[in-house]
Amino acid sequence: MNALAATSRNFKNAARILGLDAKIEKSLLIPFREIKVECTIPKDDGSLVSYVGFRVQHDNARGPMKGGIRYHPEVDPDEVNALAQLMTWKTAVADIPYGGAKGGIGCTPRDLSMSELERLTRVFTQKIHDLIGIHTDVPAPDMGTNAQTMAWILDEYSKFHGHSPAVVTGKPIDLGGSLGREAATGRGVVFGTEALLAEYGKSCKGLTFVIQGFGNVGSWAAKLIHEKGGKVIAVSDITGAVKNPNGLDIIELVKHKESTGSLLNFSGGDNMDPNEILIHECDVLIPSALGGVLNRENASSVRAKFIVEAANHPTDPEADEILSKKGVIILPDIYANAGGVTVSYFEWVQNIQGFMWEEEKVNNELQRYMTRAFHNIKSMCKTYDCNLRMGAFTLGVNRVARATNLRGWEA
Ligand code: NAD
Repeated sequence: MNALAATSRNFKNAARILGLDAKIEKSLLIPFREIKVECTIPKDDGSLVSYVGFRVQHDNARGPMKGGIRYHPEVDPDEVNALAQLMTWKTAVADIPYGGAKGGIGCTPRDLSMSELERLTRVFTQKIHDLIGIHTDVPAPDMGTNAQTMAWILDEYSKFHGHSPAVVTGKPIDLGGSLGREAATGRGVVFGTEALLAEYGKSCKGLTFVIQGFGNVGSWAAKLIHEKGGKVIAVSDITGAVKNPNGLDIIELVKHKESTGSLLNFSGGDNMDPNEILIHECDVLIPSALGGVLNRENASSVRAKFIVEAANHPTDPEADEILSKKGVIILPDIYANAGGVTVSYFEWVQNIQGFMWEEEKVNNELQRYMTRAFHNIKSMCKTYDCNLRMGAFTLGVNRVARATNLRGWEA
C-alpha cells in the first residue's frame, strides 16, 4: 500500500472513531494546494538538467502550513501528499499553531556538487516564492537537505520579499537558526521513547536499541540513547550496517563515519547484512531512514518489543496489523518524530520576536511538549480504547476538525 493510501486509511479510521461528519471528513482529506514545478539548471560541465519539484500544502486551519523539503530520487507526488497530510496531524498532536505541508525534489543529492545543489535550490525557490511565506507556508530540512539548503532558500526568498528569516526553519544559527534545532528530531525521539518506556516501568538505561538510518535523526537519537546508558547494538545506513552485542561506541562510530564516509569496517563492531537490521533482536527498533520499510514481507520476523517511528511512515498498514498481533508496541511517526517541527516552531517564534533562547530552554521546552503530547495521546487511547497510532491520529484529527468548524464554512 502506498504512503498516501496508508495515511488516508489511518485518517479515515480516526474520523470514524471520532464520528466526524462526511463534510468535514472530505474537507480534511483534500489538500489545500498542490504545486509541481520543473527546475532546470546548468550542471558544472555546462550541460542542462531538469528536476521535478513538488510542494503540497495540505491544511492551514490551525496556522501557517509547515513541513520539510526532501531531496531524494524516490520523491513522488503521492508520497509528498501523504507526508503533507501527516504534517497536519503531527503539528496538531504536538499542539503547535501550524498546519501541514511537504515538498521535495526528485534528485540524488550525492550526485550533485555543492554549486549544483545551490542552483537547484535557488531555482526551486524562485518557482514557489509567491506560495510560501512566514504566515502561509514555512519549509524546513528533511531527508537529503540541511541547514545550508535552508540558508539558500532564505537568501533567494529574501531577494523577492526582503529579509525574512522566519520563512524557513532549521537554518544555520548565524542566520537566525535555533540552538538545539539540529538535534531536535533525534532528541524528541528519545524524549518520546522515555515517556513510552516509563509506562512500562523502564528507561533507556540497559535496554538494547537498533537504529536504521544514521543521518540527522538516527545519529542524534543514537548519541542521546548512548549518553543515557542505552545499548545501541546495531546501526545501518545507505553504506551498510554494523553491530556489537555489547553496544556500539556511538561517539567513535560518528568519528569513523566522518573520516571514512561509511559505517563499514568500524573497529568497535562487526559488519552485518543491512537487510537483517529490522529483524535484529532488540528491545527498541528505531527506523530512521525511509518510509515503508516495515511491510508484510518482514513484519512477522521483527524481534523488537517496541518500535519508535523516527522516520515518516516506516510501517505500512499490513505490517502494522501483523506487529500489533505479535504484541509489538509502536510509537507512531506523527508523534515520535515531532521534535523537529516543535523546535522549528520555537525557531519561528524566536525569529518573529527577534529574541534568541538559550539551548537549555529549547531542550526543556521540547521535553515539556513531547511529554505533554504523549499524555494527551494516552488519554485518547483510554477514551477510544485504541492503540497509540489511533490515539495520536484521533488527537490530531480532532484538533484540526475543531479548528475547521470554528472557522466556519461560508465561502
Ligand atoms: P538524512 O538524509 O540526514 O539521513 C537519512 C539516513 O538514512 C542516512 O543515514 C542514509 O544513509 C539512510 N538511508 C537512506 N536509504 C537507506 C536505506 N535504503 N537503508 C538504510 N539506510 C538508508 O535524513 P533525516 O533528516 O535523518 O531523516 C530521516 C527520516 O526522518 C526521514 O523519514 C524523514 O522524513 C524523517 N524526519 C526527519 C526530520 C528532521 O528534522 N530531519 C523530522 C521529522 C522526520
